[in-house]
Amino acid sequence: MRKLKDLNLTNTRVLMRLDLNVPLQNGRIADDFRIRAALPTIEYCLSRNAAIVIMSHLGRPGGIYQNELSLVPVGETLSDLLECPVKFSDSCVSPDAIAVSKELRSGEIHLLENLRFFEEETENDIRFAEKLSYHGKVYVNDAFGTAHRAHASNVGVAEKFQEKAMGLLMEREWEYLHHTLKEPARPLTIVLGGAKISGKLELIGRFIRSADNILIGGGMSFTFLKAKGVEIGSSLLQEDMLSSARLYLLRAEQKGAKLLLPVDCAVDNNSIRKIIMIDQLSPNDKGLDIGPETIRIFREMIRQSKTVVWNGPMGVYEDKKFVLGTQEICEEISKVSDRGGQSIIGGGDSAAAVRAFGMEQSMSHISTGGGASLELLAGRTLPALRALEV
Ligand code: ADP
Ligand code: MG
Repeated sequence: MRKLKDLNLTNTRVLMRLDLNVPLQNGRIADDFRIRAALPTIEYCLSRNAAIVIMSHLGRPGGIYQNELSLVPVGETLSDLLECPVKFSDSCVSPDAIAVSKELRSGEIHLLENLRFFEEETENDIRFAEKLSYHGKVYVNDAFGTAHRAHASNVGVAEKFQEKAMGLLMEREWEYLHHTLKEPARPLTIVLGGAKISGKLELIGRFIRSADNILIGGGMSFTFLKAKGVEIGSSLLQEDMLSSARLYLLRAEQKGAKLLLPVDCAVDNNSIRKIIMIDQLSPNDKGLDIGPETIRIFREMIRQSKTVVWNGPMGVYEDKKFVLGTQEICEEISKVSDRGGQSIIGGGDSAAAVRAFGMEQSMSHISTGGGASLELLAGRTLPALRALEV
């Protein structure tokens, strides 16, 4: 798979798939971080005198035009940030839009209207993909968040190009979530948490084979504890995952992976945080955070690790009373890179927690993708990345 710097971009016309799916509030851009994140790839192409055609989705218009989900405000912000004009076409595949692209001169930028105003986009329609392909001579995909989906703008269209590569954001995700973990510096420790096991099954399966330690906290730990025969009170339980949990516990034992579960937890006792040992939970107790002894053990394991992957908070971190476990584990993970190790964060809530604690600068990598990062971490090939192979 090629990277941006492997392409000959000089004086060519680049068709670029970006993730400009910004959060909106009352019709305004609430946060422009996705637009800012796309700038390095755009600026790199501009530095090579390329003309650029940009396509993106915004929200879920479901195949119909919706004024509130127009990319016009995104184009304005982009123009402000780049300090240059941005041409705009109100359809991504109209003959007029394609004509504008074909007449672009070096250094000019053309933004296409929301791809998802056409249902053909998410259906990966071949005709639609072909029309998109007329916009450029070279194709660059820098939209990691949708890379686990096979859509026209990231799979169908890519197949029309010989000259294609991933953008700089995608390259970073690929480096950390794929490369680093193929031959990780060891010990490799995986820290898992969050509400549900089901969304993370494949990921757990992969790391039981390849990790040295697996630390499980958060809501999902209680299904594992129950599978071991522990009385978990009214803590979160995924009944339908009990047999999988049992299987994973057994596999971990066979593979010699250390799979650690909480030994104590925090429960809500009349709106006060109360610590209980895991084997002392009574039917009304609901574990909402890991307790101090678990924090101590988990921190120690993280301290000894060279590579740490973290996915899912250790407790209901949205509530001040139950944030401590997530915060302390996050703090320990933030020190891994100081010792020359790697810390990789995946998952929307874990990333949000890192940001809330102001620790993002101390992490080696915080993934921008939800589903895409889970799948890449699980060792799967993402359709949009496969489509970039030449
Ligand atoms: P991520 O987005 O990082 O992958 P998840 O979406 O899987 O994480 O899980 C995040 C949610 O898990 C949070 O809303 C948090 O409140 C919840 N959670 C964590 N621990 C518990 C627990 N012990 N009981 C119930 N919910 C929990
Ligand atoms: Mg989440």
